[in-house]
Amino acid sequence: MQRYFNFSAGPSMLPLEVLEEAQKEFVCYADSGMSVMEMSHRSKVYEDIIFTAETNLRELMHIPDNYSVMFLQGGASTQFAMVPLNLLVGSKKADYVNTGQWSKRAIAEAKKYGSVNVVASSEDTVFNHIPALPATIFDKDADYVYLTLNNTIYGTHIPNDKLPDTNGVPLVGDMSSNILAEPYDISKFGIVFAGAQKNLGPAGVTIAIVRNDLIGKHQDITPTMLQYSTHAAEKSLYNTPPTYSIYFAGLVFKWAKKLGGIDYMYALNKKKAAILYDYLDNSKLFKGTVRPEDRSLMNVPFVLPTKELDAKFIKQAESLGFVNLKGHRTVGGMRASIYNAMPIEGVEKLVALMKTFEEEN
Ligand SMILES: *Cc1c(COP(=O)(O)O)cnc(C)c1O
Repeated sequence: MQRYFNFSAGPSMLPLEVLEEAQKEFVCYADSGMSVMEMSHRSKVYEDIIFTAETNLRELMHIPDNYSVMFLQGGASTQFAMVPLNLLVGSKKADYVNTGQWSKRAIAEAKKYGSVNVVASSEDTVFNHIPALPATIFDKDADYVYLTLNNTIYGTHIPNDKLPDTNGVPLVGDMSSNILAEPYDISKFGIVFAGAQKNLGPAGVTIAIVRNDLIGKHQDITPTMLQYSTHAAEKSLYNTPPTYSIYFAGLVFKWAKKLGGIDYMYALNKKKAAILYDYLDNSKLFKGTVRPEDRSLMNVPFVLPTKELDAKFIKQAESLGFVNLKGHRTVGGMRASIYNAMPIEGVEKLVALMKTFEEEN
């Protein structure tokens, strides 16, 4: 059985090299006499795995020393509650930017714990752009400002050089679908978090990177497991962490480091995305749906003139091993998710297929 080019938005493609390495040590890890899945999270061998993963992630993302790195459970969606429960402790007000489905989920959750002000939104245009974010829209008195950095469903992103000036209010960023894909200056954030299953490894682990002065001031009602202080104090070993997912993410970190880190990934991702966007900009049949200056490097939505043609293209692509290209139901059309592990050949061959389709239709 041949592996497909899998354009799924998540869980998504993982580097073949890493899958094969995990396979090699699946039954027996190093000289431990057991699988990583079978070992105690308190053992020396597992501590090496989790602490090395943290060290490598810190190196890859240039995470400053005054930030804690945590390996948590519950997906990015649990962070939608954890962020307000831990940060809405001053004025109990937070500013949210609504750039799509994931922002909306985060907004709905935060409303349970304080006062949420949606300061900008692109909902009126089905989230096809990032709204303007001048410093004047933000409340100086808010406990934090919340952004989704890459909008997986709609294909927009806020790159590092467009992060807003929030008048010193801590910035919280959902980086689930572009972590390790493009560079961000972590010191500009109070919190960054990401579920693993788009760019880091299998589902089951969520990374939270939290500035230390924001840890330990949670609301009184916050469950122990949802306090950042619990996990920061115990180095993500308060209870049993998702041991295998952390191990696998650790392999992905080593892979990314070996290739040249985020700089390498970023250069390659820009190249991959440009192949698709250049074609979309010149095609008479296929059209991108996002305002050019806000285009994501990771998720590329596009449409054909009719739903019938969309369905025909998706079916044809699938039969040739290009799978999971169907767009989100709110956008329609197609979406190609081209995370770090998608090889450039996958993108080149997809565009070749689109060209052939254009000629024939
Ligand atoms: C996938 C995704 C989520 C949800 O992640 P879960 O781990 O499934 O909870 C949240 N935010 C963004 C930007 C995503 O892409």
